[in-house]
Amino acid sequence: MLNDCLFCAIAAGEIPGTIVHQDELAVAFRDIDPVAPTHVLVIPRRHVRDLGELADHADDAQAVLAAVREVARIEGLADYRTVLNTGAGAGQSVFHVHAHVIGGRGLSWPPG
Ligand code: 5GP
Ligand code: ZN
Repeated sequence: MLNDCLFCAIAAGEIPGTIVHQDELAVAFRDIDPVAPTHVLVIPRRHVRDLGELADHADDAQAVLAAVREVARIEGLADYRTVLNTGAGAGQSVFHVHAHVIGGRGLSWPPG
């Protein structure tokens, strides 16, 4: 591994992942522990820690949003939830920013 980051390794193909979509700047792959019929993680290839850092990289942020939209299209989702947990207290456990794309079942609000 280039660095100690699990998601960098998945993006580089060093650790297997079920890739749903990828382009020059972003990669989308299935969550290993899905909470819904569709549970895909969308990451920028660039290693940034969280949403706060991603906001400093407009091209990568745009690529992540476009990849979320593409995942929804591929999965046939008209309705879906997109979650970016920021900080351990909010549930972030991997510190390479990722958008969860969750759908394929009814989703209640507010989340836990
Ligand atoms: P967080 O808790 O940081 O918002 O989300 C991290 C997500 O990464 C979790 O939903 C977890 O299931 C997923 N995850 C952890 N390790 C792996 C892995 O090795 N491969 C994949 N595809 N997902 C993982
Ligand atoms: Zn990384």
